[in-house]
Amino acid sequence: MLVANETGATAPAYAKADNPRCKSAMTRMPVTSCPRQTNFRPMPIASSSPDTRTHTVIVVGAGFAGVGAAIGLRQAGIDFLMLEKASEPGGVWRENTYPDCACDIPSSFYSYSFAPNPRWSRMFARQEEIKGYCDSTVATFGLLPHLRLNCEMNKASWNEAEKLWHLDTSQGLLRARFVVMACGPMHVPVMPDIPGLDTFQGQSFHSARWRHDIDLQGKRVAVIGSGASAIQFVPAIAPQVAQLTLFQRTAPWVLPKMDFKISVAWQERFTRFPWLQSLLRTALYLQFETLNFSLKFPRAIARLQIAGLKNIARGIKDPTLRQKVTPNFSLGCKRILQSNTWYKTLAQPTVQVFSGIARIEGNRLVSSHGERCEADIIIWGTGFEVAEPPAAQAIFGLSGRALSTHWKGSASAYLGTLLEDCPNLFMMCGPNLYAFSSAFVMIEAQVKFILAAIRSTEAKAHASISVAPAAHQGYNQTVQLALMKTVWNSGCSSYFIDRNGNNSTNWPWTTFYMRWRLARLRSGDFTKG
Ligand SMILES: Cc1cc2nc3c(=O)[nH]c(=O)nc-3n(C[C@H](O)[C@H](O)[C@H](O)COP(=O)(O)OP(=O)(O)OC[C@H]3O[C@@H](n4cnc5c(N)ncnc54)[C@H](O)[C@@H]3O)c2cc1C
Repeated sequence: MLVANETGATAPAYAKADNPRCKSAMTRMPVTSCPRQTNFRPMPIASSSPDTRTHTVIVVGAGFAGVGAAIGLRQAGIDFLMLEKASEPGGVWRENTYPDCACDIPSSFYSYSFAPNPRWSRMFARQEEIKGYCDSTVATFGLLPHLRLNCEMNKASWNEAEKLWHLDTSQGLLRARFVVMACGPMHVPVMPDIPGLDTFQGQSFHSARWRHDIDLQGKRVAVIGSGASAIQFVPAIAPQVAQLTLFQRTAPWVLPKMDFKISVAWQERFTRFPWLQSLLRTALYLQFETLNFSLKFPRAIARLQIAGLKNIARGIKDPTLRQKVTPNFSLGCKRILQSNTWYKTLAQPTVQVFSGIARIEGNRLVSSHGERCEADIIIWGTGFEVAEPPAAQAIFGLSGRALSTHWKGSASAYLGTLLEDCPNLFMMCGPNLYAFSSAFVMIEAQVKFILAAIRSTEAKAHASISVAPAAHQGYNQTVQLALMKTVWNSGCSSYFIDRNGNNSTNWPWTTFYMRWRLARLRSGDFTKG
């Protein structure tokens, strides 16, 4: 059976089992999504004696960002350990199991560039397949011996005397010269504090913690929120329920989704001629880049809005409902959503659309416009804490203060990666790196930067690398200035904007520029100790 431990020499059972493509290997290679693995079994801690080793790098989190960093470290021959608090890798794709959960960036692009999967079954793969791809990547790139499962990092503190990070974990104290925080920008679900919530007698759960044991058949279900998750699961559950009431604070822009099955013949072609899939990936990258770039131009936005309005008109005939679901902000200000079934579902007689939820009175839910409904089940589609990464509460840098105290609600970093007050610590998917593109573009660019920073520190026999305060400040001022006139700062309320009204999420330029910046270490921007 599987042994997932940095000391384990045994190959994982699933890696060598049925699927020949899942054999362990160390080179750049295709990765086919294996069926979902359930046999990740952490090795019991070998002895009760503490781990006194000093690891060169500890990666915290085994989602796509942590796994990407681990692949880079392994290929660079750098010693590392990867911690994961859950019993399997996979990140959001392990946790979000709601009906019809899928990516909204086409799979040939939403995957590592160096590990294409020619066997994606759809243009936009579903959760199970993406989770399987993550598992396969971990096995294929030989990461299992480095992975410590069920190991939660509770606190990371910099020890200036030792020039080491001390990590308090659920499996004891660990020490490392460098830390890569890959805890995920969408890891902690947001549960709004609605007046009267404690009076609700029915069952309720967040979409990221889907309760498969709760039968929705014939129930009156209230869905709170109309974001990226809700637009996927609402059309999937609506046919089963007796009544579905959607509480939406602001109607999102929803464009058609170019989703379809990829035939076996095409999967064979992608397998035999990998350049074909590379070509598709490049075309998709350019398409998203163009979309991302065009969000800077009101005329281009207006044209996209027409496509959004046509999507509404196609799905909904009732003018009152059309009005309710027509957004009152510029397209792009919030994440652009895609669906071919959202509007048709909202037009069903068993579905009603209310404004945002105001209060709960027992089993009665009341909207901000005074609309009322009874519900047996509440599903919170209220997203995640993005603008204020919760990991910041557990990171204590040079000053001994928590990073969250340092940030005061407005996260910032140098190139979204190096944090002020935190020598030798890199944050994956950090502040102001988000673009409407595949997260893998950002992840791969960050991994290059991290490897270069570690190599440069090692090469000069320095103990630590930090961002110089002036470089940190100058960079962040430039970012905020560039964001000022963008659509993301145009006034809608979105998870891009933090509690101080600051945009600590978006990258204001092209992802080509992001990759270019992260590919270069400007020595003047760092201090080495
Ligand atoms: C439903 C959904 C769909 C999405 N679809 C897309 C898409 O189509 N395209 C796109 O670009 N992005 C998408 N995203 C965004 C997604 O967050 C990123 O694409 C990417 O998966 C982030 O990877 P990550 O490794 O940074 O974070 P995660 O996937 O969240 O992984 C973080 C990991 O760290 C672990 N962890 C957290 N804290 C600790 C701790 N203290 N100690 C130990 N381990 C810890 C977690 O258990 C988790 O496994 C989607 C997000 C969601 C929720």
